[in-house]
Amino acid sequence: MFDALAERLEDAWKKLRGQDKISKSNIQDALKEVRRALLEADVNLQVVKNFIAEVEKEANGAEVISGVNPGQQFIKIVYDELVKVMGESNVPLAQADKAPTIILMAGLQGTGKTTATAKLALYLQKQQQTCLMVATDVYRPAAINQLLTLGKQINVPVFEMGTDANPVEIARQGIEKAKELGVDTVLIDTAGRLQIDQDMMAELAQIKETVQPHDTLLVVDAMTGQEAANLTRTFHEQIGITGAILTKLDGDSRGGAALSVRQVSGQPIKFVGVGEKVEALEPFYPDRLASRILN
Ligand code: GDP
Repeated sequence: MFDALAERLEDAWKKLRGQDKISKSNIQDALKEVRRALLEADVNLQVVKNFIAEVEKEANGAEVISGVNPGQQFIKIVYDELVKVMGESNVPLAQADKAPTIILMAGLQGTGKTTATAKLALYLQKQQQTCLMVATDVYRPAAINQLLTLGKQINVPVFEMGTDANPVEIARQGIEKAKELGVDTVLIDTAGRLQIDQDMMAELAQIKETVQPHDTLLVVDAMTGQEAANLTRTFHEQIGITGAILTKLDGDSRGGAALSVRQVSGQPIKFVGVGEKVEALEPFYPDRLASRILN
């Protein structure tokens, strides 16, 4: 588990002769290593600062455990704090008391939003739930076709009204359709832009207001690193999210974005995308990602 950081901490400790237990002075050196590891994992700078302050508090108050190497003891503090900040355990999707459960998907273009919509539908289907996917991205005909293709592939119906209809109206009628079909869950795919833009936010807010989703999930590309914090802040302030899906975790990214998303919004990462295939979705487990971030 996170061997690279462990090694660095060992080195930091060795340099301090006679320091065989956690003390104020060696904590500072160790914190520097943790800070470096987190920045390398693409955690946002402000998020790193807050995190380090918490770890420092914990470490200063820690009882020295005899027989335990101080480096290991310190790593345990860091790891526990990471898991704590990321939410301790997996948070499942919201479930409506009365079907259908409505899930609104939000995010920038290219993050994997449409793919994640189909991945979620397949995931739910494997749990014996029926789904309907709704295509509201009227700005890109390719987006509607993509959802239709994915729907065929996983055998999940798609509701669409072409590119001339109003997205808010499509979403509204999509919910009606879901009720008519009697499905358990309706997943609404929305338009994304390359950058945050006010028209997109206003439309998303209107869709949310109209359909009153049980879950509003922000799709975040793990490769965006530091930017994930700003993105999450803006979406959370303007739309109000209840969770996130971190995509492209199969890439080189160490997943530091997860820490940023959680700390900035207070909302859990619910799933991670681990590949282009529609099966490549896994529930998010904070302890697993903590190991990856610290590596
Ligand atoms: P959207 O514009 O946000 O709807 O993004 P898409 O769903 O069209 O995905 C954009 C690209 O990212 C596509 O080429 C997807 O195959 C790819 N993609 C989506 N999720 C993942 C993932 O978890 N891992 C990898 N490697 N690629 C992904």
